Amino acid sequence: MRDRHSAPPPSGGALLAVLALAAAFGCSREAAGPAVAPNVVLVTIDTLRADRLGCYGYARAVTPTLDGLASRGVRFETAVAHAPLTAPSHASILTGHTPLGHGVRDNGAYVLPEGVRTVAEDFRRAGYRTAGFVSGFPLKRRFGFDRGFDAYDDQLPRGKDARRTAYVERTADRTTDAALRWLETVSPPGSPRKPFFLWVHYFDPHAPYEAPAQAMASVASPYDGEVAFVDAQLGRLLRRVEEKKSEPTLVLVTADHGESLGEHGEDTHGIFVYDSTLRVPFILAGPGVPGGAVSPTVARGIDVAPTLLDYAGLAATGMEGRSLRRAASGETLPDEPVYAESLHSQLQYGWAPLHAWRTAKHKLIEAPRVELYDLAVDPGEARDLSAREASRVEGMRRGLQRAMATITPNAAQAVDAETAERLAALGYVGPGGSATLPAPGRDPKDGIGLVTRLGRNGMTVARTEPEKAIRELTALLAEDPGMLVVLRTRAVAYAAAGRPADAIRDLRELEKRGALSAEDAVVLGDNLRLAGRPREATAVLERTSRENPKFAQPLLSLAAVRVQQEDMEGAATAYAKVLAVDPDNAEASRGLGDVALIRGDLAEAGQRYARVVELDGTDAAALSKLGVVRVRSGRAPEAIALFRRAVESDPKNAEALLYLAGALASNGRAAEAVPYFERALAAGPRTPMALNGLGLTRMELGDRVGAAAAFRESLRLDPKQPNVAEALRGLGRP
Ligand SMILES: [Zn+2]
Repeated sequence: MRDRHSAPPPSGGALLAVLALAAAFGCSREAAGPAVAPNVVLVTIDTLRADRLGCYGYARAVTPTLDGLASRGVRFETAVAHAPLTAPSHASILTGHTPLGHGVRDNGAYVLPEGVRTVAEDFRRAGYRTAGFVSGFPLKRRFGFDRGFDAYDDQLPRGKDARRTAYVERTADRTTDAALRWLETVSPPGSPRKPFFLWVHYFDPHAPYEAPAQAMASVASPYDGEVAFVDAQLGRLLRRVEEKKSEPTLVLVTADHGESLGEHGEDTHGIFVYDSTLRVPFILAGPGVPGGAVSPTVARGIDVAPTLLDYAGLAATGMEGRSLRRAASGETLPDEPVYAESLHSQLQYGWAPLHAWRTAKHKLIEAPRVELYDLAVDPGEARDLSAREASRVEGMRRGLQRAMATITPNAAQAVDAETAERLAALGYVGPGGSATLPAPGRDPKDGIGLVTRLGRNGMTVARTEPEKAIRELTALLAEDPGMLVVLRTRAVAYAAAGRPADAIRDLRELEKRGALSAEDAVVLGDNLRLAGRPREATAVLERTSRENPKFAQPLLSLAAVRVQQEDMEGAATAYAKVLAVDPDNAEASRGLGDVALIRGDLAEAGQRYARVVELDGTDAAALSKLGVVRVRSGRAPEAIALFRRAVESDPKNAEALLYLAGALASNGRAAEAVPYFERALAAGPRTPMALNGLGLTRMELGDRVGAAAAFRESLRLDPKQPNVAEALRGLGRP
């Protein structure tokens, strides 16, 4: 990073282009604004505690990129998020409003209201190119976070880990690759420079903590390993940004929330509003930012957008936050209190919500049992002072109540009618729908043990050990039948256990309570299909798709219903609709490939599978299918190369191994084929087809004993194979 004094003078052409753009978009630059509009890079690292970074004093950190950025720029010692949840906190970062102002109160249930402007819209209006790359489900475009971005990449590849829900996360290496590809397209040579606003969101420090081995080498915990991995990937991104030496670039790195890591009895995040999950890093570097400085001013999530706009010379209007530019330059700004909340305990568990009011020194947590902490002497929030300091409690409570009363919540658009109804019933949406204090219900402090049991013995094992999960979840429901999230999780476990009727029962119960989310509706549709009730499945999925037009999953599930009904044209129609809302959707391209293959249209099938491979070059299933198309088109060498790639990317993929073995065997390479037949049989089901292939290939190589063994096993599995029986007889008694 360079400051603007050492930056080369802007070329006349670039400056003129910027001025012309500014005029064209009716945007006025402040007199003190930079001579050249800087590029702006906003990086949000999900679930990142400030105190796990070297620059924030953690001795065991492996975070050279972030530490280096802090030494080139300004680090805010205390930065605070407004919610311990991805969607509400990111909405604050992107709009400059607290959740009271932007109306996004939980993950997965709200769409950012149209009436709330995003910083990306401000940058775009000022002539910036804008792009966002996100890595986690709560920031998918259908929740409105794509507003203002020319390009918004929310592709989440299918994970190989059954413990994770498919498509919830993209790892930092892949997100960085995608962002770097976009950077290549910015300012191609010969075209006038257009500044860019780039937002990159990384998800890795979010549980489960499973960093690649190389990131685990010298760290103290799996969580630290995820942080180290993100830091290394961020390094790749920032090096490329800095290579554009002629262009000043402002970089701001922060997080949406931290992670409790067991503090206060909470494993992860989402329930409590302690600093374990609300204190985040906040590091700023670039032109005009002094190097190696530390600001004592408390930075808030809502200050991100006004600060970025200020450095770009753009006015931030109508935002609740303020620019921290003067603080970055060394001034100590007057303290501004921070509003924070989590409604997760209320919306997901049926308990009391939490609201917090925080000054630089104290924090009040409004709950059935109120809490007060002196953060200056008790940063761990271990000694509740509320009983001793009743007058301070009252004063801070008034501040909190004023904030909640004066900021009119935007009518947050719930993602579907049922969610809207439920939220309205809770008092969070609709005209005059400001929340009142305190809502009745269990104090989350008293319920955190249930949350921990749900996490450890429910959510993490619902797919891998469903029967175990079902037992624990049933016990939890007996203790507290109001915990909607437990019903939701048990439905997933029932589905994984192959008990669709039970899953349907739990999901219908959620529906009855007005709590069926769009994701739940998809699970319901899938289970109705599995239970052989296609008409009900169709009704649920069509309704969900209608209510969530940007959500591809109901259409993908609908396509699966059509496939089950052997209505391939109906399936193709559903897949085509997916591509209309999400052109990069790999599942839809794959599905269209399958339909084309059944129809015998090799040209189209090849095109569709090739598209999947283009989106993800390691997709073993698509590589295999493309290989099959090539075999059927008589292009064996290409097919063999594709099968090899599939096996390399997924060495235990039985199907890919078998295809490779078969293709080698039928192209005169029997000796090469045998080990792949053997690996296919070791990795997957021992089918007569695979055994016969192995037997024939061994026979060709003169291995009569081996061939006979394979044929015998094949006949044990399926005695009605006269050709195989004859081949075995032909071998005599080897
Ligand atoms: Zn998050």
